[in-house]
Amino acid sequence: MEFSHEIFLKNIAQTTGSPILLEVEKAAGSYLYSPDGKAYLDLISGVGVNHLGHQHPHIINRIKEQVDKHLHVMVYGEFVQSTPNLLAKKLTELLPPSLNCCYFTNSGTEANEGALKLVKRYTGRTEIISCRGSYHGSTHGSLSVSGNETKKQAFRPLLPDVKFVRFNNMDDLKMITTKTACIIMETVQGDAGVRVPSQEYMTALRAKCDDTGTLIIFDEIQAGMGRTGKMFAFEHFNIVPDILTTAKALGGGLPIGAFISSYEKMTSLTHDPMLGHITTFGGNPASCAAALGVLEVFENENIVAQVEAKGQLIESLLQHHKIIEIRRKGMMFAIDFASSDDVFKIAKYCLDHGVITFWFLSCPNSFRISPPLNISEEDIRKGCAVIQEAFNLL
Ligand code: PMP
Repeated sequence: MEFSHEIFLKNIAQTTGSPILLEVEKAAGSYLYSPDGKAYLDLISGVGVNHLGHQHPHIINRIKEQVDKHLHVMVYGEFVQSTPNLLAKKLTELLPPSLNCCYFTNSGTEANEGALKLVKRYTGRTEIISCRGSYHGSTHGSLSVSGNETKKQAFRPLLPDVKFVRFNNMDDLKMITTKTACIIMETVQGDAGVRVPSQEYMTALRAKCDDTGTLIIFDEIQAGMGRTGKMFAFEHFNIVPDILTTAKALGGGLPIGAFISSYEKMTSLTHDPMLGHITTFGGNPASCAAALGVLEVFENENIVAQVEAKGQLIESLLQHHKIIEIRRKGMMFAIDFASSDDVFKIAKYCLDHGVITFWFLSCPNSFRISPPLNISEEDIRKGCAVIQEAFNLL
């Protein structure tokens, strides 16, 4: 055990001075297991990835079938392969007709990079508007349109011509003009601590963008795939984006993302220049097989319909006098306390008592859980009881 920690700390690049250092041997359903056999109830799902728990047998079977047939055979966009085809068909069938064409990437940030390039190419404009508090990824383009200033400062210069509006602020919509290529926005902000826009704002946003010829990119890398109680969060608001980005839970544990738009818009990446966006591994067949398995499980197990009721149950079990505010959409939770110290204390107690929870990068006073959507009621009650004990420490 100590030896593994030594390698991890020395030979694997570190991103913080204090990693959690939980050693994972195996995982199943809503649980992770350490080498000493201790079980951990996973209430964070790999940060919004394992919406269907760990090692779902149908997803694992889909991956195994593909592994036995073939893995990578060619760079993106050249050879015809049945699994990415099936995935694109199934994914677009879940979406409105104008979102009928998928570009598969390896990650969330790459999906946003592709989407940003597409809007520039399609509109011929350069100005990009994003929202304060947003998180869109860690590569240069996505970082440029992310709101967290302390994470960006050391990496300037970033993309030019990026402006920020206040999330869900009607007045700031006037910053969107005929010069604006796109607004990129998380449909429900995740890293900012679960911020849900109003219906009035979303309706006005769509109207303003229609008036100015500005494209809307909804980043549903965290809020999508059933998390908010709809398959895609924009379905709550009765408006449709021009481009949708997804990743994380799409792959059920294998890396995949996608930016999805209309066929007409997407074809602007095929000429002037040809190969306007390329990738070696995007649409990797094993990742696509996993994602296909994910969509089939959603279809067969009626998961999304249960999300709101489970979210309500969790919210009712987590009431406590030290809580300042709970923000929730479906099973996406932020629970505000007086300080970040409180949040760390809670997360540490939970981990020590076999329950995995987390915090937010840009919202330090909020405690975070994003349980598997198919978690059982028994495990919800078990996990919430431990969290309540942690709240009682404050
Ligand atoms: N957008 C949102 C809303 C996210 O939550 C994340 C990841 N936390 C990303 C983009 C970036 O995804 P990835 O880490 O796969 O690049």
